[in-house]
Amino acid sequence: MGTKSKALFDRAQAVIPGGVNSPVRACKSVGCDPLFIERAKGANVYDADGNGYLDYVGSWGPMILGHAPERVNAVLRDAIEKGTSFGAPTELEIDLAELVIDTVKSVDVVRMVNSGTEATMSAIRLARGFTGRDIVIKFDGCYHGHADSFLVAAGSGVATFNIAGSPGVPDDTIKHTLSIPYNDIEKVREVMTKMGDKVACIIVEPIAGNMGFIKPKNDFLKVLREETEKHGALLILDEVMTGFRVALGGAQELFGVTPDLTTMGKVIGGGLPVGAYGGRADIMAQISPCGPVYQAGTLSGNPLAMAAGIETLKAIREPGFYEALTEKTTRLVNGLAGAAGKAGIPHTADTAGSMFGLYFTGMDVANFEDAKTSNLDLFSAYYRRMLEEGVYLAPSQFEAGFVSAAHTDEDIDATIAAATKVLAELARG
Ligand code: PMP
Repeated sequence: MGTKSKALFDRAQAVIPGGVNSPVRACKSVGCDPLFIERAKGANVYDADGNGYLDYVGSWGPMILGHAPERVNAVLRDAIEKGTSFGAPTELEIDLAELVIDTVKSVDVVRMVNSGTEATMSAIRLARGFTGRDIVIKFDGCYHGHADSFLVAAGSGVATFNIAGSPGVPDDTIKHTLSIPYNDIEKVREVMTKMGDKVACIIVEPIAGNMGFIKPKNDFLKVLREETEKHGALLILDEVMTGFRVALGGAQELFGVTPDLTTMGKVIGGGLPVGAYGGRADIMAQISPCGPVYQAGTLSGNPLAMAAGIETLKAIREPGFYEALTEKTTRLVNGLAGAAGKAGIPHTADTAGSMFGLYFTGMDVANFEDAKTSNLDLFSAYYRRMLEEGVYLAPSQFEAGFVSAAHTDEDIDATIAAATKVLAELARG
């Protein structure tokens, strides 16, 4: 790490908990201090010391067009001139809602919020209000933001720091949350048979991206759909990460599953703070002011955020966008897996659209327990060495990677070459 990043981290630690405003950014689990980023353009981020890196974090998912794309910058400049917040309805909110509804087929009506956490928190409140039931079923290693009800066997930072939940969350709250293993169809059936009439909803990451990268196996999502329908519970697909990312219509399009509610975030805001939840019109009609389920926000539907979201969605809806991105990502993942293979390192790699994962375990990873068999020391060394080679990866084995439209074929080749060199070196010990 350069001297400027180091000085900034020292300064930050005095005034911000751990020097960061979101835990995984601290890079603790990979044994180094964070780079402080000064600017980013296209596929690259630049730190305070002036070093450039090829970026596969993409702000943890939103930057599908790459950083600071000119078409989004242009609409943002326009929007700023007109005022940054009104707390009153605008046409921009309708434009983004219409685009979302046209893109995500299960969504009839959508409410904008400011983060993925707000989206999932509001969606389970709605599910509970609609069904008159309390129990929420989630899956071990899935992360749905940091609302109290979800901090049970959660993924992302909760997994990275190896903590079971969080102090400050009352037992009375989490007693209504049941977390079971991902991809375990038998367990789902067993639990639903036992208590299905008390279950408000099952919420799931349709591709798990907060314990690495795990696809649903053997009709897992279809079974969730069947079981929720059978017992009068709602199915919520948390597409905060996968939405507009693994396919234009999200994972629900990829796997042909229609949820009752969908939560969205990241790409929908084009790098500005936006989340959303939407779905069946009869369920959404329960939200205030139409119905009694309360949910609100001073900055919800913010004009800058809507403008960036609209322009981003317009860009990703252009013909050929996903084909090109998927091809690039597949080539990257094959290259990374090839590099690990050549070095004789046990690994498992997978991808969907422009999202990918690489575990240092030989297991076919189906759930969080499998993911934890990864060689975390090897991952940390890989992370640090890739950084030295100018490649910026997510600083945890339990996070997914993202490719953007700004990554060129040369960028992908350079990344594969770096991984080939680094993994060969690490295998030699
Ligand atoms: N759900 C999923 C699937 C996520 O990946 C995340 C964040 N990584 C969230 C919810 C929470 O979103 P946010 O960080 O915007 O609150």
